[in-house]
Amino acid sequence: MLKNNTRMTRQKKLILDILKGTTSHPTADWIYEQARKEMTDISLGTVYRNLKVLVENGEVMELNYGSTFRRFDGNPHNHYHFTCEKCNNVYDIDLPLLNELGKKVEETMVGAVSHHRLEFYGICTSCAKTQQNIN
Ligand code: ZN
Ligand code: MN
Repeated sequence: MLKNNTRMTRQKKLILDILKGTTSHPTADWIYEQARKEMTDISLGTVYRNLKVLVENGEVMELNYGSTFRRFDGNPHNHYHFTCEKCNNVYDIDLPLLNELGKKVEETMVGAVSHHRLEFYGICTSCAKTQQNIN
């Protein structure tokens, strides 16, 4: 029992370290590929299970873009993202939280705002450059 717990903790720690060590907002599959380099016998199911626990504990964040597009973020604090519609890369936006938006919503008397989510979409600088070179 104790041995199992130790193993679980090691797996969870590895997954957390992988997520904290990247800014790429990876998929579970990518995390699994990285984890296998360290722990050759780790399964994709184990990665999914541990990601679920980490999200529930508020240690990492799940970015849900519908069933086909699910990413994970080692930064669990609310912040904004820019998703490139061409390469599907998800970028962090260095912008303070727009808490005044929540106040505006509360002014409509719909209810008390606890938090908000905001997603930005477009073409990233890197893709725009590539496009320019082709034309
Ligand atoms: Zn792009
Ligand atoms: Mn992020």
